[in-house]
Amino acid sequence: MNNPLLEPFDQAPFSKIKNEDFKPAFLQAIEDARAEIDAIVANPEAPTFENTLEALDFSGQQLDRISSVFFNLNSAETNEEIQKIAQEVSPLLSEFGNDIILNEGLFQRVKSVYEQKDELNLTPEQATLLEKTYKKFSRNGANLKEEDKKRLRKIDAELAKLKLTFGENVLAETNKYELLLTNEQDVEGLPEGEKEAAEQLAQSRGKEGWLITLDYPSYIPFMKYAKNRDLRKKLSIAFGSKGFHNDKLDNQENVLKIVSLRHERANLLGYPTHANFVLEERMAETPEKVMDFLNELLEKAKPAAEREFQELEDFAKELDQIDRLEKWDSAYYSEKLKQKLFNLDDEKLKPYFKLENVINGVFKVAEMLFGLTFKEVSTIDKYHADVKTFEVYDDSNNFISLFYADFHPRPGKRGGAWMTSYKPQYIRNGKNSRPHISNVCNFTKPTSTKPSLLTFNEVTTLFHEFGHGLHGMLADTTYPSLSGTSVYWDFVELPSQIMENWCYEKEALELFAHHYQTGELIPMEYVEKIKDSATFQEGMATVRQLSFGFLDMAWHGTDPSGIKNVKAYETQAFENTSLFPETSETCMSTSFSHIFQGGYSSGYYSYKWAEVLDADAFAYFKERGIFNREISDRFKEHVLSKGGSENPMELYKRFRGAEPKIDALLERAGLLKSTG
Ligand SMILES: [Zn+2]
Repeated sequence: MNNPLLEPFDQAPFSKIKNEDFKPAFLQAIEDARAEIDAIVANPEAPTFENTLEALDFSGQQLDRISSVFFNLNSAETNEEIQKIAQEVSPLLSEFGNDIILNEGLFQRVKSVYEQKDELNLTPEQATLLEKTYKKFSRNGANLKEEDKKRLRKIDAELAKLKLTFGENVLAETNKYELLLTNEQDVEGLPEGEKEAAEQLAQSRGKEGWLITLDYPSYIPFMKYAKNRDLRKKLSIAFGSKGFHNDKLDNQENVLKIVSLRHERANLLGYPTHANFVLEERMAETPEKVMDFLNELLEKAKPAAEREFQELEDFAKELDQIDRLEKWDSAYYSEKLKQKLFNLDDEKLKPYFKLENVINGVFKVAEMLFGLTFKEVSTIDKYHADVKTFEVYDDSNNFISLFYADFHPRPGKRGGAWMTSYKPQYIRNGKNSRPHISNVCNFTKPTSTKPSLLTFNEVTTLFHEFGHGLHGMLADTTYPSLSGTSVYWDFVELPSQIMENWCYEKEALELFAHHYQTGELIPMEYVEKIKDSATFQEGMATVRQLSFGFLDMAWHGTDPSGIKNVKAYETQAFENTSLFPETSETCMSTSFSHIFQGGYSSGYYSYKWAEVLDADAFAYFKERGIFNREISDRFKEHVLSKGGSENPMELYKRFRGAEPKIDALLERAGLLKSTG
């Protein structure tokens, strides 16, 4: 039986794979990977860096290749059969992962090497691999006494259940709410398309009129456009009180249980708080540093936020004689004010951003910065006819990477945009094995009469994902687990976000932003408008983001045993960041899925942290020229090529010559304008 996934392969053999190949390939590859681990543990020789750490990092390669092909297909080109296989193999994979983490014999070998680390003369990358591997075990309790280990497992199981319940409650609250409007006056202000959507939604549920729900595509336009203030208030309170009704879907108890279990877990492992535990593996390192960061930004952003709030309130008073600006007025009057100030229309910009031109533009930027050339090659196997495939070379004509680009939506592809890889980069036996990188987006498809024309937002998305792509393509490390985008969470958005900056620069736009019919360059007044509108109400937006960061740290940076009332505690955490009058009916924490269900606990700050990094890094280019090869070479050498092989702050300082400062972000966000 030939299974293409079990043969050694370089390029992913998409056209040869049948769905029924996946399951047996997974089973076989897990068994093989298990045998590799067993061999490491059973090695009669004393543990060394090579026979334990290196061997472990290079184990399971076939399994990793199969997983990346399979799960990327499940995102970009799935079907019921693939989804069913995913349900079956996911538990097997997590079981295998757990078996490694809980493998006592393996841990003892890793620990024995770790204890000799100072005498081993390791390279910085080897030292990082040793540290990260050891921590993977110790942070999961490998050093604990038997009874503490048991307690840890119990906490983990309880937390998994609580997170699930938390999310299910939020979802149930979202799904059960309906606002049915039967009087056309009540949907006044909504654009035609939104009205139609609301009408169709009502019809689809056997109702007449216009149906509004708490799903974003329904909720957001209503808050932005609906003229009826009472209805906006009603919907806003419904949205803000998910999980806060003292009924069986209430999440207050779940919040308290989650934070107290996380705290206990951190204590068991020797950390004073959950935030200390999480931040140990982040660029920010400590809760104190995160709090300093949030406070420093708040101090700078608050005057602008208060000024913008006043401006918005004055505008609303003038327009509709409202008494005071409430939360449910914010989106509505902001939209009106924005229209008045900018009147910037996506349709006017789109002809300048034909997809092919933008792709050539981003390639040209990569050539000018990093000497890369992209050669379209039709012989590379692919999973769908829409996928474009390229070979990437450096300026000495060395092969650097394969690049897959999959830009248009279709059934079987999830929404959004992302970067992924089909093969990691690593160096083994002196051979540098180059990566296979992919960008997947959902841009409008061309028709027989019109090419694919991008909105400006889509242009920056393309540059963003391409930036992640460069991080993967230019990777140059020895160990696969440290390569490319395998970096700390608060560092991973630097290479992507920095690329977005080129979209606002005349020198870069000249390379590609030409009208698809006339060839005319985009007028610079449009670009100025784009920049201005991008910083519209940036003070308020910043303070809002910071408020979530403060709330996250309030829940995870202290001993929560004294907290009895979720709402009161939250109100206190919001004290320095609140602009709008307080609403007693709503509570953010009971539906704050990012931190209580997803993986963002003690990590919400990283959104702003990444912006500070990219603004500070790009300021260096602005000082020295946005296509200055000396600066881009430094960025490639110290950031893009290094992956997670060294401490990110050290890497950043080597590139920039100093730690990142918030000034460039404040400048870019227009937060330094004098008050007046
Ligand atoms: Zn990103």
